[in-house]
Amino acid sequence: MRQKIAAGNWKMHKTLDEGVDLAKQINDFVNQQGAGDAKVILAPPFIHLTEVLKVVDNPNISVSAQNCAYEQEGAFTGEVSADMIRSTGATYTIIGHSERRSIYKEDDETLQKKVDIALDNGLRPIFCVGETLEERDAGKQSQVVKNQLSKGLFHLDKNVFEQVVIAYEPVWAIGTGKHATPEQAEEMHKFIRDQVKEQYGDEIADNTSILYGGSIKPSNAETLFSQPDVDGGLVGGASLKPEDFTEIIKAL
Ligand code: PEP
Repeated sequence: MRQKIAAGNWKMHKTLDEGVDLAKQINDFVNQQGAGDAKVILAPPFIHLTEVLKVVDNPNISVSAQNCAYEQEGAFTGEVSADMIRSTGATYTIIGHSERRSIYKEDDETLQKKVDIALDNGLRPIFCVGETLEERDAGKQSQVVKNQLSKGLFHLDKNVFEQVVIAYEPVWAIGTGKHATPEQAEEMHKFIRDQVKEQYGDEIADNTSILYGGSIKPSNAETLFSQPDVDGGLVGGASLKPEDFTEIIKAL
């Protein structure tokens, strides 16, 4: 059965002390109340990874980076390699977040390299896809997502693809307070699962976790997560508040 996941993307928020405190609060919550059969993933900024990992002792919590370099090592000032991330004990990295695609102009070719290097170094990619508002208004959302999947992921062999988590994050819903309706989310998640099925077969598609991301809050998490093809969430803003993120974990 596929894994349910509540992942918190902290983006560029929290000083080190604040981040460690947030991680402790989430860890305490999961230690006390459990997370059912869900996995919780915390994605702090790079420089917090080691300290966050020191305070996380619950086996249901994993730690993720938010990005990684597409080269193994070398003269790439300011970059952080997949190998370095893995050496902290982190086991996931987000790749292809819409902020990386739009602000830092990461294209499909770059993202494919990042997926490969992450996997080569033992990191599981949380690969983000999603359309802009203009693309949705033009009825192109399925084509856009299909293209992102095939360019970023579908070159992978079946046994490697199993390591990948997909996050559907419509760009118009990220940080805007405007979330996809449960029906819109389910329609796209089913489409994504069908694409995976076509590429890798029924078993892999059934086992692939597909997360929804975009203005998830305690008030909308339960209905979004109740959709058959929505296996959890990639949460931005609400993951910064322990009281909200723990409610979202409960909703899973
Ligand atoms: C995100 O950054 O991945 C995200 C979904 O942000 P938010 O929950 O704030 O919309």
